[in-house]
Amino acid sequence: MSTDKPSPHFDTVNLHSDRSDKPEHGALHKPIHTSIAFEYADSRELAAVFQGKQAGYNYGRQQNPTVNALQNRITRMEGGVASVAFATGMAAIGSILFSLLKQGDHVVSSAYLFGNTNSLFNTFGNLGIDVSFVDATDVSNIEKAITPNTKLVFVETIANPVTQVADLAKIGALCAAKQLVYVVDNTITTPCLFSPKSVGASLIVNSLSKYFGGHGDALGGAVTETGLFDWSGFPNLYENYKTGPTSQWGLTQIKKKGLRDFGATLSPEAAHTLAVGSETMSLRVKRASDNALALARFCEEHPRVRTVNYPGLASHPQHALATTLFEQYGALMSIELDAEVDCFDFLNRLQYVVSSSNLGDTRTLAIPVAHTIFYEMGPQRRASMGIPDSLIRIAVGIEHIDDLIADFSQALA
Ligand SMILES: *Cc1c(COP(=O)(O)O)cnc(C)c1O
Repeated sequence: MSTDKPSPHFDTVNLHSDRSDKPEHGALHKPIHTSIAFEYADSRELAAVFQGKQAGYNYGRQQNPTVNALQNRITRMEGGVASVAFATGMAAIGSILFSLLKQGDHVVSSAYLFGNTNSLFNTFGNLGIDVSFVDATDVSNIEKAITPNTKLVFVETIANPVTQVADLAKIGALCAAKQLVYVVDNTITTPCLFSPKSVGASLIVNSLSKYFGGHGDALGGAVTETGLFDWSGFPNLYENYKTGPTSQWGLTQIKKKGLRDFGATLSPEAAHTLAVGSETMSLRVKRASDNALALARFCEEHPRVRTVNYPGLASHPQHALATTLFEQYGALMSIELDAEVDCFDFLNRLQYVVSSSNLGDTRTLAIPVAHTIFYEMGPQRRASMGIPDSLIRIAVGIEHIDDLIADFSQALA
């Protein structure tokens, strides 16, 4: 894992982001602008803004200065060319498909997906946009699923909850060769641990609700255009949005359809909370990833734990792949206990580990997945995602590791 990235480094760029775009009144944090409308002394300017001939704000559903500052920060973090923020991560993912695809188009997706993304993709199936779900740990499965109608490939970096790692670089090369839009959901790894642009991603998704904001106190999502995809040959773009560099046409359409037409807009208050939270992202992600590795090793040695899924363990099927791709292995893991330990009793015995559905909080959270977040999809689909009934997902936080291990130790005793 290389940390020798070119200067200025990620943390420095991130911390000084708001200062890079003309600070207002010298304010170190971008102020929260709540106005939804904007006035122009010269009405010709207003017209120019509406016609996209001049940069500026027209209506809060489409643009806001506080949200723009957050978008610029995300673009810098991901090394992209532009970003659009959304009300949630799901709104970001939904807006990509909704904006770019038409009836009859086909998507190839990793089968190992965030549960709600899986549910959303099935809804697109009802609208005539078919999604094939394949094992994305092996690029040949993606290749076999591609049809003449395939427009887009969607993968997550480290899948939740079983932690399968997609063959990200090879899938990127395949998408480049076939001129397919390559969407990488970077939520679990964050831009601190992984740059999807480095494997050829066209669009990057981040749920800002998780590690990005990091405190479990604001929802948000974002799509970043890396600039690597040439949209000039993409058939589903409206003529109106084919302005500026061809590498940004896709995001322009996503913004118009997702924000202006669909209204999945992030609030300025949430944008502010997420931006402030993100300033400590690499400290939190590093601490949580260190904790996760130590806890995974402890669990792997424990006689009452049957299985541990964590890419940082040598026993993980994609451990070598993860080591080449990521700075660290993230803070998400899952375990199966021995048959005689009831998983609900175990969770109730934990003192510091909170039973909760979120991840990317500062606190360690745990949840029995088949009974909760993956309940609705049923046993067959769960089996295809490698999710056994007794699986417990652990979203490791930033507590002191000794206390976490002591807590697991007493709950397993
Ligand atoms: C949480 C999550 C999402 C959805 O984000 P929300 O902000 O909760 O809508 C998408 N992808 C992954 C991998 C997630 O963990």
